Amino acid sequence: MTPVFLVLLLMTAVPLISICTHGLYIVFIKSVCCAAAEILIHGDIAPSLTKNAVPCTATGCKWPKSGRYVYVPVFISSAYSKQHERDIIIKGLVSFHSSTCIRFVWWKPENRDYLYFMSKTGCWSHLGRQNGGQIVSLQKGGCVYHKTVQHEILHALGFHHEQVRSDRDQYVQILNENIQEGKEHNFRKEQTNNLETSYDFTSVMHYSRNAFSKNGQPTIVAKSNANLIFGYASEMSANDIARVNKLYGCW
Ligand SMILES: [Zn+2]
Repeated sequence: MTPVFLVLLLMTAVPLISICTHGLYIVFIKSVCCAAAEILIHGDIAPSLTKNAVPCTATGCKWPKSGRYVYVPVFISSAYSKQHERDIIIKGLVSFHSSTCIRFVWWKPENRDYLYFMSKTGCWSHLGRQNGGQIVSLQKGGCVYHKTVQHEILHALGFHHEQVRSDRDQYVQILNENIQEGKEHNFRKEQTNNLETSYDFTSVMHYSRNAFSKNGQPTIVAKSNANLIFGYASEMSANDIARVNKLYGCW
């Protein structure tokens, strides 16, 4: 048992049970879990499993709160190496425990909705809670980094990319002429709930200024400073944390 694992055990308010990764439980997960969502919207966001076009916040995609905490069951694929990749994922999960009222707990058979961390192709997640379990893909060898774990978890908690915020036009200019063919949808503005937080270039949910560029030129430019570099956050910003706390009523 690693120190990080111990921290997870200690910081959750309900007992965690150890689960079998090679027996019946894994069969159960495969039978209820979503099909691999290879068609992605907004770069790394998989379509809703229910194909519901209504904005996430209006369809109950938040995870339910029970008392002071929001318990989110998780299952981590045994394909990740125990000493390294698994610890990085657990560290990312635990980082929410120390700053928000989200509490990740180990999946149990009676949990209908849960996050299933597995190594599919690429780094991606669904937006908000889906019905019946949902994959968070962190591909081995390319996605198992602290910032990426936090980024994909934030999607699963209901958060969109910063540069598609409903008020983004006040802060950034999208340079369509530099965007790769077929990637324009990644920059489509969304009707987001900004929770009275300011636009945040340091958000772990912000793309870089050259994201999906076809010619090395910027695709996103800050209106306040055309030379501003952004999109390289190593972890959640204070705003990212505040939004989780606001959306889930942690305070
Ligand atoms: Zn993303």
